[in-house]
Amino acid sequence: MDQRLAQLRGNTAPKRHNARTIAALTTNPGCARRAILDSAGVDKDALARTIGFPAPFGQSSFAITRGNAFEAQVKADGCAELLRLLRETLGLDLAEAAYTNLEDVGGDDSQEIRHAYSAQKLTRGAETLFDHPLLRLAVAGQNVYLEPDLVAFQHDGVFHVVEIKSFAVIDGQADPGKVAAAAIQSAVYVLALRRLLGRGDDAVSPDVVLVCPENFSNRPVATKVDVRKQLIILDHQLSRLTRVEALLDLLPPGLTLDPAQPPADLAAALGPLEARYAPGCLSSCELGFFCREESAGCTDALGTSVREQLGGVETVAEALRIAHGDHPVPPEEAETAEVLRSSARIYDDALRRTVRPVVLAPVP
Ligand code: SF4
Repeated sequence: MDQRLAQLRGNTAPKRHNARTIAALTTNPGCARRAILDSAGVDKDALARTIGFPAPFGQSSFAITRGNAFEAQVKADGCAELLRLLRETLGLDLAEAAYTNLEDVGGDDSQEIRHAYSAQKLTRGAETLFDHPLLRLAVAGQNVYLEPDLVAFQHDGVFHVVEIKSFAVIDGQADPGKVAAAAIQSAVYVLALRRLLGRGDDAVSPDVVLVCPENFSNRPVATKVDVRKQLIILDHQLSRLTRVEALLDLLPPGLTLDPAQPPADLAAALGPLEARYAPGCLSSCELGFFCREESAGCTDALGTSVREQLGGVETVAEALRIAHGDHPVPPEEAETAEVLRSSARIYDDALRRTVRPVVLAPVP
């Protein structure tokens, strides 16, 4: 299995997952192309650029620099400021907590070693702040490691996930889209931490602590966010992902996305990987622009609700032909044809009745 995925990747180093990539994966669980590419650790951003469909994706370098500076500020002096925020937000009477950085394992940065080290440290007792634990989660039948960018805080045997984000909370309000993205990413960490500890759901609280800058300053403010709903969605979506072995079995032998190939060959190699484009891909997957171009003229490209309403009618041309014709259709398309023809009649009627604007003559 590892060999097949390495061959698909072109024997390059695999790209690591993070909470954002796993959260995005669950937004389109029916896409076999993404499941295979992510399981193989293909660098989708580099691939999209090579084949001529770069996606303006991810954070700007300015946002990354600002985010790193804010995170460093919150974690300074062994997370002293963070501990103050945790005391206030979780209502703790706690004078101090030990700080453990799990990023450095004596210079050995292999994922297996770091994960084992994290597991060993996290399963010990005492109030502690753990920085950069390396977690693991099964995605499409493959174990993937999560790039750590969080702090796990243990108190009375229960862990809290702490997410530090650089978007601002202004007058107690933050951008709802950014909060929703942070909540689903935190849910990924909660799930992975629960699986690492193996002590049941009570071991990690579903209340995560989100730390952001307040108003227009760099002063951090913490808020408790309940991610129970996101955990249910995530668990459900991850369990629906088709096992990657089954998807690999459908591919032609020897298929590779070796970046050394000419761009046209690389684009052609993506063909056998079945995609399921939806407009949401543009904001959640690096290959969004390529897959949109590829699916031009397909009803799928118009979104999930259109795809469901036009079940069985695969192209826009076919939908228009059915809407404007009265030829018989197969029984399985009868209901769709009725809806399309009725919509076409209403639309034509509305166009005929459209009141044309009256052009007033200038007043002499
Ligand atoms: S952009 Fe393409 S590969 Fe990515 S999720 Fe959408 S259909 Fe799948």
